[in-house]
Amino acid sequence: MGIESVAVEPAAPVAATPVDPAALDALIADLRAALADVRLLTDATDREAYRLDETAYLAAGLPGAVVFPADTAEVSTILRLASRHRVAVVPRGAGTGLSGGAAGIEGALTLVLTRMNRILEIDPDNLCVVTQPGVINADLKAAVAREGLFYPPDPASYETCSIGGNLGTNAGGLCCVKYGQTRDWVLGLEVVLADGTVIRTGGKTVKDTAGYSLTHLFVGSQGTLGLITEATLRLRPMPGPRATLLAFFASVVAAGEAVAALTRGGLVQVTLELLDRETILAVDDAHQLGLDRDAAAMLLVESDAPGTAAAAELDAAEAAIRAAGSTSIVRAADATEADWLRHARRLALRALEMKGTVRMEDVGVPRSRVPELLAGIEKITAAHKVRCATFGHAGDGNLHPNLIFDRDDPEAARLTHVVRDEIFRLALDLGGTVTAEHGIGSARREWLPIQRGEGAVAAMRSIKAALDPLRILNPGRVL
Ligand SMILES: Cc1cc2nc3c(=O)[nH]c(=O)nc-3n(C[C@H](O)[C@H](O)[C@H](O)COP(=O)(O)OP(=O)(O)OC[C@H]3O[C@@H](n4cnc5c(N)ncnc54)[C@H](O)[C@@H]3O)c2cc1C
Repeated sequence: MGIESVAVEPAAPVAATPVDPAALDALIADLRAALADVRLLTDATDREAYRLDETAYLAAGLPGAVVFPADTAEVSTILRLASRHRVAVVPRGAGTGLSGGAAGIEGALTLVLTRMNRILEIDPDNLCVVTQPGVINADLKAAVAREGLFYPPDPASYETCSIGGNLGTNAGGLCCVKYGQTRDWVLGLEVVLADGTVIRTGGKTVKDTAGYSLTHLFVGSQGTLGLITEATLRLRPMPGPRATLLAFFASVVAAGEAVAALTRGGLVQVTLELLDRETILAVDDAHQLGLDRDAAAMLLVESDAPGTAAAAELDAAEAAIRAAGSTSIVRAADATEADWLRHARRLALRALEMKGTVRMEDVGVPRSRVPELLAGIEKITAAHKVRCATFGHAGDGNLHPNLIFDRDDPEAARLTHVVRDEIFRLALDLGGTVTAEHGIGSARREWLPIQRGEGAVAAMRSIKAALDPLRILNPGRVL
């Protein structure tokens, strides 16, 4: 089916599938009987903290109960009992998601994995780590770094998001240009299915073609197919310190041309991030970095090549960036300054949140189309007079237009929706995607059939029906 043939309805707020209160009460009674020591929140004030993820502009349901299992056996028991009572379960890690995937469903059970936060084994001989899902990304990175090893996936939220959530969303981040997304670092998983069955999809073996690749199916499935309770993740030796370059431009499209030129030139930096003027100003206001406040756009380029190769890689990048029309280029003086610049980029969303409510989108296009995407976003937001700050992982063709609005103004909120739909259409027309790393969740569901086509969505529904026939796992998300 062509993408033009589906009409787009304005999105409703997050679907809050009602759960039968009597079924939830029966489930709570059974949970207390089967797992006397499990941490279970039933007080409304406590549950309120689990209503939303970081998708602040969406409405969401209040969970009927929130449970914190301590191990795989407890997860299995909880899912078996939830299946028995047909109570929907929302898997949740640290709740930093940007698609409403871990947001509450009215009266359902939210299952939080943050207590399963042990790194089980670091195996330098096989360059891998075995971990529970509740470990925070930055803690895993730090633990393997002490062994001289490196786990690359680094969402900007890496100090607060969990490995389970990274697996649930197939998280990206600031180094995907060189190292890929979370999925590229997964060797195997332990997964609890909707009926409580525990399965393993792989292990420490680097090459493994036995059967279908269930590992790749569960990664990015946003808790709709199974609950990940353990992961074996690939590692690599720790690269050297990063060399960093900042380049400023008189237009965002010129910055986009530089991104396309770097890709065309086969220059694989570890980081290639873009910030537009609105983002530069917000980051500079928040952190006083002395950025060029007159620039229309900025690129942050990093190399982690060994030894002198890093400087040579930046020299090559600088030549391509100059040719694309950069107005000024500066290099970080040392690794500390480079770390601080990267840190400031990671805080871009927080800096923008000081300006208003932020609706963050996550479109991706083939990298040669980045200039067209940037020009189109500018045109659409100007036409609707909507305030927009665009930043993101330009080296992956992945940009985050952030629509800033007053959430108390219903017309402003409605307008962000119209603008979002136009940006989505633009991304698809450029051969791209409506979500490159945050996921469909509940925020973008109506666009899945438009992007993928009904046939592909029907295949996804068949997989869902096979693995979760009672539809208790995160219903209404993704599909
Ligand atoms: C400031 C900021 C910056 C961010 N930067 C990035 C970025 O650069 N790149 C990026 O990709 N994302 C980014 N994000 C989004 C978010 O941090 C990621 O999506 C992250 O992977 C979510 O992890 P979490 O532990 O918070 O998961 P949650 O939000 O709790 O859950 C995310 C999804 O995974 C599912 N899930 C959670 N745990 C499991 C499990 N054990 N098994 C199965 N499913 C599970 C949930 O049901 C949900 O659908 C950012 C968010 C913020 C607030």
